[in-house]
Amino acid sequence: MNSSKSQKTCAIIGAGIAGIAAAIRMAAKGYKVDVFDKNDTPGGKLSSFNLGSYRFDFGPSLFTLPHLVEELFLLCNKKPEQYFSYTKVEPGHLYFFEDGTRIEASSDINSFAQQIENHTRDKSNVVINYLKKQEEKFNITKEVFLQHSLHDYKNYLSLHFLKALCGLHKIEALTTMHEVNQKTFCDSRTIRIFDRYATYNGSNPYQAPATLTMIPHIEFGFGVYFPKGGMYSITQSLLQLAMDMGVRFHYSTLVESILLHRNTATGIQCDNTKLCYDKIFCNADVHYAYQKLLPQKIGEKYIKQERSSSALVFYWGIKKIHSQLALHNILFSEHYEQEFHVLFKEKKIHQDPTIYINIASKYAPEDAPQGCETWFVMINAPHQQGQNWDAVVAETRQNVIRKINRMLQTDIEKYIEAERILTPAELERKTLSAQGSIYGSSSNSVFSAFLRHPNRSPHYKNLFFCGGSVHPGGGIPLCLLSAKIATELATRND
Ligand SMILES: Cc1cc2nc3c(=O)[nH]c(=O)nc-3n(C[C@H](O)[C@H](O)[C@H](O)COP(=O)(O)OP(=O)(O)OC[C@H]3O[C@@H](n4cnc5c(N)ncnc54)[C@H](O)[C@@H]3O)c2cc1C
Repeated sequence: MNSSKSQKTCAIIGAGIAGIAAAIRMAAKGYKVDVFDKNDTPGGKLSSFNLGSYRFDFGPSLFTLPHLVEELFLLCNKKPEQYFSYTKVEPGHLYFFEDGTRIEASSDINSFAQQIENHTRDKSNVVINYLKKQEEKFNITKEVFLQHSLHDYKNYLSLHFLKALCGLHKIEALTTMHEVNQKTFCDSRTIRIFDRYATYNGSNPYQAPATLTMIPHIEFGFGVYFPKGGMYSITQSLLQLAMDMGVRFHYSTLVESILLHRNTATGIQCDNTKLCYDKIFCNADVHYAYQKLLPQKIGEKYIKQERSSSALVFYWGIKKIHSQLALHNILFSEHYEQEFHVLFKEKKIHQDPTIYINIASKYAPEDAPQGCETWFVMINAPHQQGQNWDAVVAETRQNVIRKINRMLQTDIEKYIEAERILTPAELERKTLSAQGSIYGSSSNSVFSAFLRHPNRSPHYKNLFFCGGSVHPGGGIPLCLLSAKIATELATRND
């Protein structure tokens, strides 16, 4: 694995989705790439497991912006459809409220707006105008906040940056998501539907800047999709592409440190062996990286940042088909503001939590035995801070079952025939994400986007960062963009 004169070399720490995407991009640039992961399988949070005769995706369940996956195949002159396919999900979400309201969120804006008008006190034209405004916000910010480095000062002279600067007043960075939603809509159910998008990056709608109200545009403007074979097929197909490009994967291999010589990263150490590389990419959570792989003192400002939320997940094999449910179902809390207060301030789970039920077997029936379903039941949870998770799980499980029974008029416990539970502590053990946070630091402040760790090390040459804990943020699409930005920075002078 040592650097040869003929071909430049690259090591990637972590086979998460951003690590795999960066490996593909570096291989396409002609690098000899080695990827190291402490786990014995790839994907990190985007992995999969079997529970009896059920198959579950471990983490992500919502798939948007599929072109960001496809562009990796095209970059390597491969046909995406030979590796990966997906289908449009309709309706995108089903929303349930305690008063019996059930709202179908079609990705067609007009029918969604009509649903809101039929079931709430808000008018369809208000929803349509709101979503148009979010589209505009997305178009103003995407180039600056999502598609380029925020830390490369050359970008500040570009046309897209100047355009964003002119539209700055429109992105509502100085007010919160909830304030904007509350000003726009009069019905608390509509407000909750749009406040919920803050959780897409582990944030609190009562604190996060209203710039993030553009998130729904990703669903309504571009659609919600499901990959054939389940979410894990994203990992599998990109893994296959990476291997076809000559990338080598080293599983069950914990990287112990990043080797440094003066102001340059020169390689990695694993199994007490030093390995030299021309370029090093860190796909590990950046907070963890500064605690374990790099000198801690240089990363203190990142370590101090508020962490994003985590999740408590019940994976249930359910021996019944629930025809009143879709792929993505949300059972809202009646105490939404308190739920977030408890989550971010008290680091607890509210007694009446909002429940997300994802039933992947609706689109991948092969994941469950006939007449059965895979239920991924997720509740927002605080990051790890010394909680007694056994006690939290026992109490929350009861609250969740009671709420599901009440709102869906069922007796769900009777149908659970297989169960696994994911706590923030388990998430940290599996993926080394510090304190079990899903998205690295939270986006609860107006400065969050600027404070997020850059894709190029501010301290060491030849060291780059990709993944959900660095710029531009967490979630599959942004992880894929982080790999793109990091690779562009790494190969700019080649
Ligand atoms: C419950 C849950 C639900 C989610 N829902 C969604 C969703 O619906 N849609 C969406 O888009 N996103 C969702 N996400 C977020 C998404 O999964 C992540 O943002 C994304 O998968 C993170 O990818 P990553 O590249 O940052 O790497 P990770 O998945 O964090 O993987 C990092 C890898 O690095 C390895 N590693 C770390 N340190 C070392 C070391 N020292 N040596 C060797 N290996 C190391 C780890 O073992 C791990 O495999 C969800 C996440 C979770 C947990």
